[in-house]
Amino acid sequence: MYKSIVIGTGPAGLTAAIYLARANMNPLVIEGPEPGGQLTTTTEVENFPGFPEGIMGPDLMANMRKQAERFGAQFRTGWINSVELGERPFTLNLEGGETLKGESLIISTGASAKYLGIAGEKDNVGRGVSTCATCDGFFFRNKKIIVVGGGDSAMEEANFLTRFASELTLVHRREELRASKIMQDRARENPKIDWGLDKTPLEVVAGPLGVTGLKVRDNKTGEEEVLATDGVFIAIGHTPNTKFLGGQVETDENGYIVTKPGSSETNIQGVFACGDVQDTKYRQAITAAGSGCMAALDCEKYLEGSMIHDWSQTLG
Ligand code: NAP
Repeated sequence: MYKSIVIGTGPAGLTAAIYLARANMNPLVIEGPEPGGQLTTTTEVENFPGFPEGIMGPDLMANMRKQAERFGAQFRTGWINSVELGERPFTLNLEGGETLKGESLIISTGASAKYLGIAGEKDNVGRGVSTCATCDGFFFRNKKIIVVGGGDSAMEEANFLTRFASELTLVHRREELRASKIMQDRARENPKIDWGLDKTPLEVVAGPLGVTGLKVRDNKTGEEEVLATDGVFIAIGHTPNTKFLGGQVETDENGYIVTKPGSSETNIQGVFACGDVQDTKYRQAITAAGSGCMAALDCEKYLEGSMIHDWSQTLG
């Protein structure tokens, strides 16, 4: 039985853990399949305040974890199959049959990389298809790479991967990019990036040794062609990790947890959410960390018994 359980170890979960541990709330932090969250799959973080020269994503996360441990946060790995939030203490059912009980819960499970859902894609993960440039870029030294997507992630991954690639093409399904101006400008200024705009990916083509091409349709002419490549990096956004909640916590139509505006409270008293699992707008490490702090403070208040409102009446 724990006073507080934090699920997830990205910037949101670890910041919540730092605050809770410092307030003697003895948090148990559950680390899932991607310890440290999305920042461990990124390279240099230039915009997290306090690091004028930038810091590598994995280093930032390792520092946050150490900081939480320093104040007594306990960590354990585990995959939560389901939760029972109908009565307190709340119950978490872990894979393997173990059950954990918590008086309060902070959900900071983030969001996972989306796939295109085209033929040949899932079959070739690890054989040329990747959703993580930082993890897999090294394997594509002097090879041809395609990055799919038109948002900031795609620009960032494309720029990063030009360090390794002999040729790199960015394929996007529209003519206009979704990415912010600064990220677009950086990518457009990179002479190693070729642009395959207004092309819809249809199929990842592979042979016995892995990926050999990406079949696309030109949206203007309707013509189909196979672009030769050794690797396809998919950078088309993320899906919030809320399935394990079984619909007990209110979410929007895309599965993001709904929190009361200006707070981390969900429709269930004692259950708080922070980070990308509830953020459809900002999705930055610093906003995730800030919302983790909010969740810890809200949780502390709740545990102290001072949270008297039932926000489930006001959410909508
Ligand atoms: P995003 O902004 O949602 O962009 C996703 C991109 O993938 C869009 O261009 C979208 O096309 C395309 N896409 C989605 N589904 C597709 C499909 N089935 N087939 C083909 N293309 C598809 O996601 P993101 O780039 O991961 O960024 C998410 C958030 O994180 C944003 O707020 C971003 O600013 C932030 N971020 C910031 C940084 C940074 O500042 N360093 C880095 C990474 C991410 P359409 O445009 O046609 O919809």
